[in-house]
Amino acid sequence: MTRADELRRRREQEALRIRTALNRQRGEQRANTKGGEGTVAFVEERKCIGCDQCTIVCDDDAIELYHLAMMSPLMSVDSNRKAKIIRDACTGCRLCVLACPTDAITMIDR
Ligand code: SF4
Ligand code: SF4
Repeated sequence: MTRADELRRRREQEALRIRTALNRQRGEQRANTKGGEGTVAFVEERKCIGCDQCTIVCDDDAIELYHLAMMSPLMSVDSNRKAKIIRDACTGCRLCVLACPTDAITMIDR
């Protein structure tokens, strides 16, 4: 039978493996994502879940959240938030792209 300390050790190893794989993936994603002054972030509304991660990482106050009515009449929630890019403030740094858990943000040409 597996002992508790053995199980904990295996869990730590697995957590390290997953973290390493995710970091590698993020590094590749960052390298492949264009950015800079000639680009601006764009939010695909359909994919945005209003989680607020992008506004936290954006140092340039270039993202704001707005409320949208739910499309489905079956669900009733107080607010359905979406992110919106303020184009003039966006510096093209790409941080929001990396922070978004649903891949709702892409970088487009200005
Ligand atoms: S690319 Fe950078 S400046 Fe532009 S919205 Fe994203 S985090 Fe903010
Ligand atoms: S991080 Fe992504 S899903 Fe979350 S609010 Fe920003 S755009 Fe929407």
